[in-house]
Amino acid sequence: MSKQKKGQNTICTHTGGVDDPIFRGAVSPIYLSTSYDFLDQETKRYPRYFNTPNQEHLSKKIAALEDAEAGMLFSSGLAAVSAVMLSFLKSGDHAVIQNDIYGGTRNFIESHFESYGIQYSFTKDLTINAFKDCIQKNTKLIYVETPSNPLLKLVDLFAIAKLAKTHNIISAIDNTFATPIVQKPHTLGIDIIIHSATKYFGGHSDISAGAIASSQKHIDKIWDLAKDFGGNLSDFSVWMLERSMKTLGIRVKAQQKNAKKLARFLEQHPAVNKVYYPGLKSHEDHQLAKIQMKGFGAMLSFELSKSYDTVLFLKSLQLIKPSMSLAGVESTMILPALASHALLSKSERLAQGITDQLIRFSVGIESKKDLIYDIEHALNLSQKK
Ligand SMILES: *Cc1c(COP(=O)(O)O)cnc(C)c1O
Repeated sequence: MSKQKKGQNTICTHTGGVDDPIFRGAVSPIYLSTSYDFLDQETKRYPRYFNTPNQEHLSKKIAALEDAEAGMLFSSGLAAVSAVMLSFLKSGDHAVIQNDIYGGTRNFIESHFESYGIQYSFTKDLTINAFKDCIQKNTKLIYVETPSNPLLKLVDLFAIAKLAKTHNIISAIDNTFATPIVQKPHTLGIDIIIHSATKYFGGHSDISAGAIASSQKHIDKIWDLAKDFGGNLSDFSVWMLERSMKTLGIRVKAQQKNAKKLARFLEQHPAVNKVYYPGLKSHEDHQLAKIQMKGFGAMLSFELSKSYDTVLFLKSLQLIKPSMSLAGVESTMILPALASHALLSKSERLAQGITDQLIRFSVGIESKKDLIYDIEHALNLSQKK
């Protein structure tokens, strides 16, 4: 058994658990100690060193799922993003950033890079040439996020990894939307994989956490900075996250199965102008999705026809919750124009393809027929007179 590579659901359930040799319990004991013996110990343990027993063990599950050598946990997705970026970018360096990224990440870059003396370019679009065009002599990092939010556009990860290697640049991806169940960027050559574990890893909308996976060498470098920034995850949350991740594989698969059916249902519905889901043949990156993803994930967006009031539609839903966040076992929807992209002007939003009628749908594990009923019912109540 030990020689054989473990299957994904086995990794989810077993890898990185803390053994309980005293009571032989089935689940990991939780070690809350912040104080550890320093005499004759090889490891000097301390929470902010990311090496308490629960942190150290759960990091192995993250690494195994991403097919990487090592992993690390953080108190939020942004703590992971900022630690990675500032570990590889110093004053005078330059970063190439995908133009279509999570709002909080964009805000971190635009609000703080200049004061650190770090230069950056946002790509014109998501094509490989757009990334190529941005590379300078001092470029040290290429940063991508695929599928993107909220239009689920894809970036060719194999091509990005190749481009980065050719120019001796570090590549990093925010893999939150896909999860390692759907996409393993490290196997395509991407150096560093980042997650907001607040989303699918947690999966029950009750944990704030972040995670990264990479080679031991890169993780050591990130650790060096992160231990001084202090964004470690509390061991209570680590334990909660371990429990949640046991079902990551089956949750994500159930959610993406629902998403595919809901995408098809919405695509043929007269109230819907357009559906954005990589699993649909009509999606511009469907072919690429088939190559670099295993399944198509559980996030989709759709544009309601102008004869429907989107706010009234969301208010009329009884099962699906209007929510800022995503990826829980419960289905949620958001209006990007009023929430995640509200800080942009209307013309900036339209330039990105985000209309006021666009709704992003994080599909949960509920019974498909109930989700469809909920949508039909809310549509009936939200048609403009
Ligand atoms: C939520 C999210 C983040 C930020 O994670 P936090 O845990 O909120 O800090 C980063 N990237 C993506 C794609 C996200 O959805």
